[in-house]
Amino acid sequence: MITENMPLIDRNTLRLPASAEYFAELASESELRALLLDEAFFKLPRTVVGEGSNLLLRADVPGLVIRMAEKGLAVVAEDDEFVWLEVKAGECWDALVATTISCGWQGLENLSLIPGSVGAAPFQNIGAYGVELADVLDSLSAIHLYTAERRDFSCADCCFSYRDSIFKSAQKGEWVITSVRLRLNKSPKFSLGYADLKARFDQLPDSQRTAQAIRDMIIALRQSKLPDPKVLANAGSFFKNPIVSAEQHQRLQRHFPDLVSYLQSSGDYKLAAGWLIERAGWKGRRVGNVGMHEKQALVLVNYDAATGAEVSEFSRQVCASVNEMFAVLLEQEPVVLPVVI
Ligand SMILES: Cc1cc2nc3c(=O)[nH]c(=O)nc-3n(C[C@H](O)[C@H](O)[C@H](O)COP(=O)(O)OP(=O)(O)OC[C@H]3O[C@@H](n4cnc5c(N)ncnc54)[C@H](O)[C@@H]3O)c2cc1C
Repeated sequence: MITENMPLIDRNTLRLPASAEYFAELASESELRALLLDEAFFKLPRTVVGEGSNLLLRADVPGLVIRMAEKGLAVVAEDDEFVWLEVKAGECWDALVATTISCGWQGLENLSLIPGSVGAAPFQNIGAYGVELADVLDSLSAIHLYTAERRDFSCADCCFSYRDSIFKSAQKGEWVITSVRLRLNKSPKFSLGYADLKARFDQLPDSQRTAQAIRDMIIALRQSKLPDPKVLANAGSFFKNPIVSAEQHQRLQRHFPDLVSYLQSSGDYKLAAGWLIERAGWKGRRVGNVGMHEKQALVLVNYDAATGAEVSEFSRQVCASVNEMFAVLLEQEPVVLPVVI
């Protein structure tokens, strides 16, 4: 189905006003390919969206805005240890997590309550509580936005790294992900690297140490820490945690002994962007309709009818101030649309 001049304000969790020139919701790969090869739309720019939980809409989006709505989940293989699931892009991510746990499959519980669609999950290699999509993704299928070529990508082909993939970097704007294949465990192998989580899990009697228990804890932790976008418009973490060299880390630590950082396997350090923002004085600070949340310095919120331009300007000020204080460049996590105004 294609709608002309479709308002997107209810389709992005930051509730930024913008519209799509042509909004197409597609229920299958064949519908998608037919649209991509339709001469009526041949010369138009093409953009993919999911549920809009990681978008910064600066203006109206020209051309075709495509959303894969196809649903479906099927077991495609299994052995004694693992089950391989194929899931269509239009499924809700968190509903998938709930379903897999109720089927007794394990591996997605740490990724509970992340908003958005299954098709968007590989785009930024969603991650939380020590687990990333890359840990469970076997492969995925995608269709090229301009040639309609269908291709399978292995996990290695996706070039996953921290909040990044080939779809967000080298081949940005080229592919629509139509389905993913996940490899899940049939028996428990929990990931309890997060101190908060481990402490709570360790208090449970053996019989209650299940994937469902981890899901419940993570939902409770997330609900206590993150504002609900339905109540206060936001896109989750607004900045990525910056990675700095060991030398830069040492210099920073000399000036800021309480710097929050995590050693990476590469020898670099990941800094807590929320800590940098708080120390630069932005936690709870509001300019007009936009502010950094009072309890979560990393979450930018739209208090009331902000525009994409206001959000961008506020974000620029936060970045400039963090850069001035720490000589560290923050990178925005949400995807800015349209790519060119
Ligand atoms: C309250 C809150 C908490 C969050 N917590 C986390 C978290 O813990 N960890 C985390 O990683 N993220 C988190 N996010 C960000 C967000 O949930 C994820 O990035 C999610 O995957 C976005 O899904 P979406 O369907 O809303 O995609 P959208 O926001 O609509 O799109 C995001 C990007 O994905 C691309 N995309 C979407 N669908 C497809 C597709 N089928 N094929 C190709 N590209 C596609 C779009 O082009 C766009 O560039 C949070 C967001 C909110 C609002």
